[in-house]
Order: sequence, then C-alpha cells, then structure tokens
Amino acid sequence: MPLRDGRLSHDIDPSDRPPQDACGVFGVWVPADQASRAEVSKLTYYGLYALQHRGQESAGIAVSDGSRIVVFKDMGLVAQVFDESVLNTLRGHIAVGHCRYSTTGSPTWENAQPTFRSSDAGGLALVHNGNLINTPELAARLAPGVLTATTDTEVLTALLATSGDGGPLAAAREILPATRGAYSLVFMDEGTLYAARDPEGIRPLVLGALEDSGWVVASETAGLDIVGARFVREIEPGELVAIDGDGVRSERFAEARPKGCLFEYVYLARPDTTIAGRSVQATRVEVGRRLAREHPVEADMVIPTPESGTPAAIGYAEASGIPYGQGLVKNSYVGRTFIQPSQTIRQLGIRLKLNPLREAIEGKRLVVVDDSIVRGNTQRAIVGMLRDAGAAEVHVRISSPPVAWPCFYGIDFATRAELIAGNLSVEEIRDSIGADSLGYISLDELISASHIAKDNLCRACFDGVYPIPVEEAARGKHLLEVGR
Ligand code: SF4
Repeated sequence: MPLRDGRLSHDIDPSDRPPQDACGVFGVWVPADQASRAEVSKLTYYGLYALQHRGQESAGIAVSDGSRIVVFKDMGLVAQVFDESVLNTLRGHIAVGHCRYSTTGSPTWENAQPTFRSSDAGGLALVHNGNLINTPELAARLAPGVLTATTDTEVLTALLATSGDGGPLAAAREILPATRGAYSLVFMDEGTLYAARDPEGIRPLVLGALEDSGWVVASETAGLDIVGARFVREIEPGELVAIDGDGVRSERFAEARPKGCLFEYVYLARPDTTIAGRSVQATRVEVGRRLAREHPVEADMVIPTPESGTPAAIGYAEASGIPYGQGLVKNSYVGRTFIQPSQTIRQLGIRLKLNPLREAIEGKRLVVVDDSIVRGNTQRAIVGMLRDAGAAEVHVRISSPPVAWPCFYGIDFATRAELIAGNLSVEEIRDSIGADSLGYISLDELISASHIAKDNLCRACFDGVYPIPVEEAARGKHLLEVGR
C-alpha cells in the first residue's frame, strides 16, 4: 500500500506500522435560518481536518437541508476527498463527517462513511468510531440481503434506519442496549442530529457549542477548537443525545460502566486534546517524568522519536536533568506518489522517514524516548541508525507498558503473535532491538499519570484483561466478508 500525502500518524517503517487509529467523527447542527452563514459542510471539513490523525483511509460528509440528505465520500485524506466546489454542493444546516481507518471490513469505497439508509420514514446518515463485538448477532436481526457493505457500522445503520416505526430515536432506544463493543456514534435524519456512546465510553466523544447558536459533536476537543466551538461536556458513557430546534435532549440507554481507552493518552489522541479536563500533552510529559524516575540512566542527551515521543522525552529530560535535544529529523512529507521500497532496499525504509543529526549525537550516550513498541522493527532500525551515526550508547525508554495483547475495541494492533511483547521478555526485546538498555513505564505509573481511576480504564492491550468479553468468533476484521 503506498504511503499517503501528509500522513499524520507516526508511521515510520511501512513494515512495522504503529497502532492504527479507528476513526474520527464529527457532527454539527445550526438553526435552519443560519444555514447559509454557518456553512456546516465547511465546519465539518475543518473538524475532520483536525481529526485526520484518527483515520486516513477515507473521508466523508453527509448534509441535510431539512428535507433531503446528501452524502459525499471517497478514499483518501480529507483534503484529497473534498475541495471548495464539492463543499459548495453540500448545503444544509445539519452535517455529520468521518475520517476512517478500517477496523471491521476492508478499506473500500462501499465501507467508507457516513453510511446512509433510507426507509419510508426518511433517511439516516451515520458515522462511527470504535468496533462492535457482537456484529453477527446484530446482523441476524436484519432480513437477508439487506447489507450492501461489510462493516459493523453498516449493520448498525440498517438497524437504526429500519427498526420500529418511531424514527431513529425510538430505534436507538431499542438497538443500542443490545449493541456491544466500542461505539461513539453521530447520526442524523433530515431534521435532528444524534450522538451516542457505548456504556463503557471506550472511545471519546465531546459536545461543544458554537458561539452564535448551534452545537458540535466531535471525537476530540481539538475538533471543537478548530471550528471555534466551546467545550460543553463529554457525551457520557451510555448516553443518547438528540439535538434540534428544541435544544439538546439527553437520555440514558444504559448505566455507565466507564472503561476509557488508556491508549488514547499514550498515542491516539492529539496532544492538544483534553480528556476528563486534563490535556493529553500534560499527561504525556508527566509520563516522561515518571519514566525517568522508574528507569534512570547516566546519559548525555535525551532525544525523542519524532513526533510521538516528544512530550515524554521532554518530561524525561526535565526529571532526569539530562539535556533534551534533537537527534533525529523526520520527513513528514513523504507523498502518495512515493514509490514503496522494494524488498531489496527495504533496509533503507526508515531512512525515508528519519535521518540522524550526526553532529548532535556523535560520541554521546543517548536516551531515545518513544511511545510504544509494536513489532520492534522500527526501534531496531533507529538504534542501528544512531549507532551508525556515532552514538556511544543508546538507551531506549518507552512511555507505555509493553503492548502484549490485541485490541478488539477499534484499534488495529498486530495480532498477539506479531506483537514483540506478546512473545519476548523485556530483556529479550532489548537484545532484539540492540539497545544498551530498555525501560517501559509501568502500568501503575501510566494510570496514575492519567489521573483516571484504574477501574475506569481499559488497559487490555497491556494486561490482557478485556472489560467487554470478546468471543473468538467475533475477533476477525473481515468477519462479514466470509463467503461474499
Ligand atoms: S485494548 Fe488498548 S487500545 Fe484497545 S481500547 Fe483497550 S486500552 Fe485502548
């Protein structure tokens, strides 16, 4: 698969992709008489632009003018899918938008979002961040042949559009309590914007208010900031919200059992996003400080793996007293037309993205801070590159505990067999990547730095304790494609 223009993730080595984010969702409602001034399609475009790091395979926007819903979606980044002329055709006062990384179903146009369904009662467009774990059970509620795509989202959309005859709100009251897994949803019919979050609240979802009048729902507060919306509150786990001319109406479809994703703090969320009132950047710097106290080492310079390791490297340098510096320069602009290295020059792969600053690191004992290790190929290449550039010692510090278990709630990690920490001890991993020493933050310290109670967090990829039990049969990304 070719690399994409301006990819915002820290995908450094194509053969060792970092955790892939599930999706970014966005929704906006403004009064109908302000539709032309508010330009909801452009607000949604900018919102998705701020959420691009959460999904880079496809992007889409649905807009309602009160009587009709129009959907535009395509493969690619938000800025590749939409231009001014397309956005000008998407007119109305309600919109939902999505940027996707596939967690159930292939990265194809049919599986891009928003998904859309119409029934006698009208249309329904929906966007989803997360991954359901009882999709076959839900799909069994539908008549044969109803599904046109292969995603859990398509199943949910079909159910919400066709269940009962009381419209999406009544359907959501019936369907959501039977829906298991991770889902932060934003959906709309012709006149109302809806938002819902699973009872565990695994993926984030926040509500904001526009300055004049109107409401915004987004995966992260960074999606509110970009459109000038004021943060109001998080959509609560187990909450269903409807927004229209009568304001924001909220109800519960399930008791909250909060299990927010701990990995959002480590890598997924933008550093300028706030979760539970605390900035992600502040948490990451604090993790770096704690990492320095847990795994001290004598060294001359602390450097990050850019950019994902930067906040924790700042914290590590601060707490250890070792100077912070730049040792690696990242080329962020490897483009879509870029030719994927062939097997014979694969060893050059990392050089396409990172280059060492030889003068800065020559003869130095380095601490290299990164956010996580998936397969270990990237860290092995970085250590080798730094040694080649003259580093005297390379000490690797990781601002998350070992990732040893896959995620079934919307993050596409490797399988357990592919995860290096699923198979090797820390000392064996150190040996495998060729570092002089290796230290991971402990799970307790990471949790403590998040300021969230341990029982209110999902930590399954670190400790293998899955807060929503996942049966073996529900673990495949392509489970709805079998036999198609
Ligand atoms: S398994 Fe890991 S990545 Fe997945 S929701 Fe839990 S903490 Fe987040």
